[in-house]
Amino acid sequence: MSEVTDELWNPTAETMSVEEFRATIETPRLLRQLRHAWAGSEFWRDRFAASGIDAADFTDGFNLRDLPFVDKSDLLADQAEYPPFGRLVAVSHDDIRRVHRTSGTTSRPFLTLLTERDSESTIEAGARAFWCAGVRPSDTVVHCLSYCMWSGGLTDHLCLERTGATVIPFGVGNSRYLLELIQTVRPTCISCTPSYLPRLADLCRRELSIDPSTLSLQKALFGGEPGAQDAGFRESIEREWALEAVDANYGMSDVLSIFGSECRHRSGLHFHSQDILLPELIDPKTRDTLPLDPGAQGELVLTHLFREAQPLFRFRTHDVVKILGVGDCPCGRSGFRFAVLGRSDDMLIVKGVNLFPAAFGEYVSRYGDQLTGAYRVLLSDQEPRQSVKLKVEIRATVDTAQRDRLARELEGLIRGGLSVCVNVVWAEQGTFNDAEQKPRLVELTA
Ligand SMILES: [Zn+2]
Repeated sequence: MSEVTDELWNPTAETMSVEEFRATIETPRLLRQLRHAWAGSEFWRDRFAASGIDAADFTDGFNLRDLPFVDKSDLLADQAEYPPFGRLVAVSHDDIRRVHRTSGTTSRPFLTLLTERDSESTIEAGARAFWCAGVRPSDTVVHCLSYCMWSGGLTDHLCLERTGATVIPFGVGNSRYLLELIQTVRPTCISCTPSYLPRLADLCRRELSIDPSTLSLQKALFGGEPGAQDAGFRESIEREWALEAVDANYGMSDVLSIFGSECRHRSGLHFHSQDILLPELIDPKTRDTLPLDPGAQGELVLTHLFREAQPLFRFRTHDVVKILGVGDCPCGRSGFRFAVLGRSDDMLIVKGVNLFPAAFGEYVSRYGDQLTGAYRVLLSDQEPRQSVKLKVEIRATVDTAQRDRLARELEGLIRGGLSVCVNVVWAEQGTFNDAEQKPRLVELTA
């Protein structure tokens, strides 16, 4: 690893051009990864054989696109059939160091295993991301994601620690104690989900009569759920807490805990792991491969280049991203920059308009004084859809007389901005428990 600079954690890995990287690192690592999977994983041997691929094919001419896609349902079926860890595992039990579970928002949990080297490369990628987000050894970070098997807890903690920062393993819940701790230990950063801070601010004002902006926090490191890229929401958090809110932690525990974060130029999420993950972009409907060029929009598909326990090839993440640029940020990072638009299986078509549930966040967040920012899109199975129902958390302080007017105002704003008709219904503050896991923004109704 090259020497850390003010701007970059690993200058060699982070500034190598995509072309140079492909020529020198990507192909040898991919071939080694394929051979490792062939040797150790019955799951992959079966799938390679089903595609007519033999170990002798793993040479410089190998075309990754000859492999079929794999997704979470394949991995879950494997673990269900061969419990507890499945036939995907490519190492012996003696080499496994840690077991996590995925956050399980769309299905039952998947058990993720890490060897020592898997853990090390995960921490390296996470350290790049947090360094990019501005975490430094002079910082004290209170880390408020769940440590209960979720990689967002322990693994992200280790990534934060690797930057040299002091890290407080707080976890979730016990918000009152958290506020006391912030007052006594005076951390400079909080690492949490975006939806947690408005609730913590409420508690701070209501129970302690303290203005959150007077506390020590200078930076919020957001991860675990969408929201940080919503400009209105971010502004309201920054104003209320007098801190800088950073989208610092994008990743997925089945693949790599953290591989995206933004730098101080706020030019979208940088992809930090070109030596650890091979990214592809596909059209989620046709599955055609799309170029990773600025403006392209599609589902992110990831292949491990450096994984021992559970190597994945062409894993469909179902996250739809937009490529914002490649290698053109003033910070010098060469990987592509992207924004996460939403889940491909959540994409809605309402009166012919394609949209993601996260798109409503920008409008809901404009009413930070009256709304908590949490919401759900309520959908019936019937298509085509002419309108959607939006269930939005309203603050307890908003009285009944104001609620009708506010609903009509929000409906009008969304109609104007997104060209879709919505029917806003209120949920009382605290209805959606978004602190612990990624919220699923869609709820199906009968
Ligand atoms: Zn940058």
